[in-house]
Amino acid sequence: MEVHNVDLTISAVRPNQYPQTNYPEIALVGRSNVGKSSLTNVLINRRNFAHTSSQPGKTQTLNFYNVEDQLYFVDVPGYGYAKVSKKKRERFGQMIEEYLTQREQLRGTILLVDGRHAPTNDDVSMYQWLQYYNIPALVVATKIDKVKGNAWNRQESLVNKTLGLDKQTPLILFSAVKKHGQAAVWEWIEKQTGV
Ligand code: GDP
Repeated sequence: MEVHNVDLTISAVRPNQYPQTNYPEIALVGRSNVGKSSLTNVLINRRNFAHTSSQPGKTQTLNFYNVEDQLYFVDVPGYGYAKVSKKKRERFGQMIEEYLTQREQLRGTILLVDGRHAPTNDDVSMYQWLQYYNIPALVVATKIDKVKGNAWNRQESLVNKTLGLDKQTPLILFSAVKKHGQAAVWEWIEKQTGV
């Protein structure tokens, strides 16, 4: 999809703040600093629209980005951020769970993992959780430009094996710097949403 118009429609913490449209929605989840804002910016062809930050865990709301009045990208707060209090973490957990399990417009979730390393326990839990709720997932391994070309296959297998990916869940190696994987990610989004 060629993107020209994008708006941050709303930052929501409660279902009654979600957009009242029927556009299909794609959620983006992953640990803080994994490259979620960078992926979003590449998908919408902007340099710095979704705010990339060196302060992990700052986004504590569900951010709905209206893309061409056709679909929403929903930026879900990064998990695995140790510095927020346990109470706050539980509140995020509820907010995320409420959205992912109850939102009818949700067509799929992109789970981002750091392509340089093995997925963490948090990543594995998130994947299992998505499977448990039958939410279609795409796994994107980020920052792959930091991995030497001859090690890409090894990293791909490591992510595959550590998460225990099923046949329905594709895995795409991605670089926001090189825009590697951009078309493949869009292809999956288009298939899930029908846009
Ligand atoms: P978020 O917290 O998940 O939204 O992560 P950001 O998109 O803000 O990225 C965190 C850091 O990783 C920033 O310094 C980015 O420049 C860097 N980063 C993100 N994606 C890539 C990538 O594909 N390659 C490289 N080399 N760095 C990246």
